[in-house]
Amino acid sequence: MKHLVPRHIDALKPYQSARRIGLTGRIYLNANESPWTNTIECKHNNLNRYPDFQPYELLNKYSQYAGISKKNILITRGADEGIELLMRSFCISGNDKIMFFPPTYDMYAINADIFNIRKIIIPLLSNFQLDLISIKKNINNVKLIYVCNPNNPTGNMFLRKNIISILKFIPKTTLLIIDEAYIDYAIENSFIDILNQYTNLVILRTLSKAFGLSSLRCGFVLSNTYVINILKKVLTPYPIATPISDIAVQSLKAGNIKYVQKNILKILYNKEFLVRKLKIFSCIQNIFLSQTNFILIKFFYSEIIFQYLTSNGIIIRDQSHKLGLKDCLRISVGTMNECQDLISVLSRFETKKL
Ligand SMILES: *Cc1c(COP(=O)(O)O)cnc(C)c1O
Repeated sequence: MKHLVPRHIDALKPYQSARRIGLTGRIYLNANESPWTNTIECKHNNLNRYPDFQPYELLNKYSQYAGISKKNILITRGADEGIELLMRSFCISGNDKIMFFPPTYDMYAINADIFNIRKIIIPLLSNFQLDLISIKKNINNVKLIYVCNPNNPTGNMFLRKNIISILKFIPKTTLLIIDEAYIDYAIENSFIDILNQYTNLVILRTLSKAFGLSSLRCGFVLSNTYVINILKKVLTPYPIATPISDIAVQSLKAGNIKYVQKNILKILYNKEFLVRKLKIFSCIQNIFLSQTNFILIKFFYSEIIFQYLTSNGIIIRDQSHKLGLKDCLRISVGTMNECQDLISVLSRFETKKL
């Protein structure tokens, strides 16, 4: 069968999602999900009909939520589909280049590998900020730039003036894509307010994180109508299943948005609690500042900690194999009970060690 497979697909390493890694435990702090679900019910009596290509009521609701016009929104199956669709629509396989800034979200690199698109990799500086000088030096003929802001897995935001400066020095033929998967945790830092000022700016959003609807697979590409219309040519005919759009519409009603906003505040509170408690642990080298619902932590021996937590039923995410993240683990912020549980399990490790 081997001759059936193109070489770049044969060499591909698929995304190691939390679900594929498949560790089981009591407490899941490994996928940056919300610990609270939405209880939304829907009746379906029209499943014999194909859904709208872009369900109107969902466009309407997200347009109200985001404060931008419906014609600047494309609904996709999660932000992941947006990441992929942009490459499929704008890049020529084996020829074009994309740029991104590791350590960051893996899907930019993986999709580039799938489509045999060249990767221009500009590592972040040691303070996890963008290396503007190298970006500028290597920008020639780059089609798409992916910036994850706030960044996963580091948790920080990039300096606004640096992103603006990239927008100013790149040609109009290069798209800057800002992945705002976690922006709801720091919504005042969104770039949505300047979407109309730059024709080559694209923003990705999702209901998977702060909205607590990872299982829905619903995301949004926000951009000018030219870009949106190109993407519409390439997107599959019926991307959004009717039950999905019905649930998404409900999640964007005022009452549920209030519920989500309350949950965001709870997560921010729990995060402060976690950081305050973790600070005194001697197994920790550094806790990185986070503007998201997760914390990146550098331990002294991350492998031992990871194994210890797993064997105590607490599943977190190993990031130690990533560029510049030796001994780093990522912990999603859970409920207060889950945070306290984590602290008490880690405290037992500390006292055992002494
Ligand atoms: C989780 C995540 C996504 C994927 O979001 P979906 O909408 O669930 O596809 C995209 N980008 C980043 C940075 C993420 O962390």
